Amino acid sequence: MINIDKVRADFPILKQQVNGKPLVYFDNAATSQKPQVVIDAITNYYTTINANVHRGVHTLSQVATDAFEATRKKLKAHFNPKHEHEIIFTRGTTESINLVATTLTSLIKSTDEIIISALEHHSNIVPWQMLCERTGATLKVIPMNDEGELLMEVYDELLTENTKIVAVNHISNALGTINPVEEMIEKAHKVGAWVLIDGAQSTPHMKVDLQALDCDFYTCSAHKMFGPTGIGFLYGKEAILNELPPYHGGGEMIKDCTFEKTTYAELPHKFEAGTPNIADVIAFGTAVDYINSIGIENIEAAEHELLVYGTAQLNKISGLKIYGTSKNKASVISFNIGEIHPFDIGTIVDKLGVAVRTGHHCTQPIMARFNIPGTVRASFAFYNTKEEIDVLVAALEKATMMLS
Ligand code: PMP
Repeated sequence: MINIDKVRADFPILKQQVNGKPLVYFDNAATSQKPQVVIDAITNYYTTINANVHRGVHTLSQVATDAFEATRKKLKAHFNPKHEHEIIFTRGTTESINLVATTLTSLIKSTDEIIISALEHHSNIVPWQMLCERTGATLKVIPMNDEGELLMEVYDELLTENTKIVAVNHISNALGTINPVEEMIEKAHKVGAWVLIDGAQSTPHMKVDLQALDCDFYTCSAHKMFGPTGIGFLYGKEAILNELPPYHGGGEMIKDCTFEKTTYAELPHKFEAGTPNIADVIAFGTAVDYINSIGIENIEAAEHELLVYGTAQLNKISGLKIYGTSKNKASVISFNIGEIHPFDIGTIVDKLGVAVRTGHHCTQPIMARFNIPGTVRASFAFYNTKEEIDVLVAALEKATMMLS
């Protein structure tokens, strides 16, 4: 059980007023808020540790390196990859997917096929389209039903021995659907394909065990996990990461460099060229500690309760239609009210202190599938409350009255 008063006190931003009203922050799928310990970790790094990592003999550099590498250890303990060096620090999910799609180029033939799904964020669509443009490979898309669930029988048909990679999200940011990734990974492996799971929305919400999943790649953005922006990771299986060429060239990623030939460092450094985002890596480790102090199972249970309550309350509003009605859902509710434009609703509820997302949520193909310009999206985190959902409902009723 979560002690909600104690937890809310950990997040200084939640005490704020916005437009003269107490802030109700329901845009957690876009980015989560940061507890004070994470904010303090960044200040503490620059105040007492700041030095470059991995190459200094002086004390501060060693302290910085230890603190930096401690995060990789924490991520190993939390996500259970086989090896620590299978965790590559990146700027986040977008960069992780681009790293894989770019470095795969020399391994892809024009007869190869890449499968994504109808539920993907643009960052799990565009890098694969760019890979197909470079190589002549074909992009195939698993369709979804009206509930926002992938059609698994079509997935079975799309998988062939030409399938090189399947890239799907674990949880949809636009509809909240939790995809059956275990089954999808197993099926892809039967035809010899690799699987990349976009974990941007799952990692803040549920337990993820990388060895149990047996995926080949997994991505994460720290800013959705109560950590800082500009940092995340790519997980890849050791053998596959060793097979791929480096992504960026530069300092930190070489073993030996001459003008004639350069050899590359071992994992993870081969994929971590240049001075990394040291402060934010360290604060990411603090965010993982914070999640574990609450308990990821407690987070999942609290968010599920908010989803159930929120769905029931929102469904009472006349003319409100929810998009994404799978039974397997994370705490994301996407909706429209009658013909009212989502932007107009978002603007009015903002005046009442409620922060929701409006628009296409970087998933234009999902909006096209439902033939709508966008939705209003309320996405909950464990620090939200049922009382805040009541504030949203009242704000929506007011907005509907004003706009109808
Ligand atoms: N995939 C999904 C499912 C997401 O929700 C997001 C962020 N909205 C991304 C990818 C991209 O993540 P980032 O912008 O942190 O790289």
